[in-house]
Amino acid sequence: MKTKLYMRFPTALTNTPVTYELIKHFDLKLNILKANIDFNLMGSILYDIEGPSKAIADALAYLQDLGLSAELIPSVITIDENRCTDCGLCTSVCGIKALTIGAPDWKLSFDPAKCVGCNHCIPVCPSRAISGLVPEPVL
Ligand code: SF4
Ligand code: SF4
Repeated sequence: MKTKLYMRFPTALTNTPVTYELIKHFDLKLNILKANIDFNLMGSILYDIEGPSKAIADALAYLQDLGLSAELIPSVITIDENRCTDCGLCTSVCGIKALTIGAPDWKLSFDPAKCVGCNHCIPVCPSRAISGLVPEPVL
């Protein structure tokens, strides 16, 4: 199973080596897509996560027992098909090619497995059809 894991943790847990624990104790493959640690506020991490379903479920339970807010989010953005006009603008900023458009139908196509949650596509959409599920860090 491969999906995305988003977790937020309070100040008291920002020193906890969560990534290490997930790899060592649950044998999961993790790729950090986005991380924000603010010692005065809270932290958040978005991972690509891969492993057996049971190991991922056990890891989620472990994180929740620690007091972290953790959830699996198969897609980091959502596209409102009723608003999208298939103009293709968003594909020009998606360097990883999670958003594509082309022949024969010239309809927007989105591959959530490729998406890294950069949110670059959101502001360029003239129809406001794209919503992000993972907020940008507050600087
Ligand atoms: S969030 Fe980034 S990677 Fe994902 S579809 Fe938008 S531009 Fe592409
Ligand atoms: S920029 Fe917006 S309207 Fe244009 S293809 Fe992308 S999601 Fe659709």
